Amino acid sequence: MSFSTLGLSKPLVEAVAEQHYTKPYPIQEDAIPAILRGKDVLGIARTGSGKTASFALPILELFHRAKPVHVKRVSVLVLVPTRELAIQVAEVFQTFAEALTHPVKTVAIYGGVSINPQMIAVHGAEIIVATPGRLLDLVSSNALRLSDVEILVLDEADKMLDLGFADEMNRVFDLLPTRRQTVLFSATLGDAIADINKNLLHDPVTIQIDDEEQDIDLIKQLAYRVDAERKGPLLRYLIKTGNMKQVLVFVSSVRTADNVVTKLNKNGIQAAAIHSKKTQGARSEALSKFKAGKLTVLVATDLMSRGIDIQFLPYVINFELPRSPKDYIHRIGRTGRAEASGEAISLIIPDDEHHFKIIQKKMGKRVEMLPSEAIDLSGY
Ligand code: AMP
Repeated sequence: MSFSTLGLSKPLVEAVAEQHYTKPYPIQEDAIPAILRGKDVLGIARTGSGKTASFALPILELFHRAKPVHVKRVSVLVLVPTRELAIQVAEVFQTFAEALTHPVKTVAIYGGVSINPQMIAVHGAEIIVATPGRLLDLVSSNALRLSDVEILVLDEADKMLDLGFADEMNRVFDLLPTRRQTVLFSATLGDAIADINKNLLHDPVTIQIDDEEQDIDLIKQLAYRVDAERKGPLLRYLIKTGNMKQVLVFVSSVRTADNVVTKLNKNGIQAAAIHSKKTQGARSEALSKFKAGKLTVLVATDLMSRGIDIQFLPYVINFELPRSPKDYIHRIGRTGRAEASGEAISLIIPDDEHHFKIIQKKMGKRVEMLPSEAIDLSGY
């Protein structure tokens, strides 16, 4: 299977090759033709499956096939849960749109920054990638109309609901024409998603990508038994002796994130945190420095880890375990993506051992537990 047999025209096929996509991912094989046929799509797939390109490419193909219009209007709306994801998804559209013969403008809309530049930026936009709250602000200040939307994409719909966007999403749906194509992506299929499916999608093509097992097999997982007070030194020891250059460290609170970063920096390891108390500017800067390899460690809480899209991330360290096994799998899935292998290390204090057993059981895989008391941590 190649991208051209899926129905993409030459400019997009070439743009895809430029991104070093050699062949379509399974989700792309299913979603691209369905979206091109005008079908609604329900995709159960998580970040890392290639879902962004699976909707961005066919949508841009439809623009490519259509005659250019003089009066630009918003005909595609992509709703996303976080600012980070808004920026990343918009970038995917912008990158591939460069290949098209007539320009298609994509704008990312998200809160936490001043609204005025966005009011100006949306002028002439045909594709909007937005978090629900800020989108509604722009609509109510008449900067934007949604009455011409032909395609609605809900990306990470489960996360949007988890974050409490249900009301705002419903208000957005009310502003859209009823005749439209709807594409919904979610990592899980819970009751709330089933409801949205029933109410918003018409006879959808359902795509389920069960790639977690396969991805997990690519990831080398191990754990260290460690006393709470030796955790910080052990983290620094592992990073330094393992000569790790790009590590994503997970913690469960904003406070721990800041503490871990302070200690790492004091010990000469370049680190920054991204969490909900950081400004949008600080978060974006940390993420882009980390991606560019200018920062060794990025410390993140679970919420902020959504939408961090880095190809070939070699190391993930769980400084603290997440509560749910699902989040554990999601965290370690940050490595071993895009068919590259990676390593996930968990630091387990005595109080967490039982919980870690539950996680392993749910995951259906045993993780090797190494002792750490013999490791000399002085100086770390
Ligand atoms: P996503 O699930 O959309 O976050 O995509 C995960 C990563 O896979 C991104 O870094 C994409 O650039 C990359 N990707 C998507 N499709 C392909 C493909 N067909 N071949 C190689 N990489 C891809």
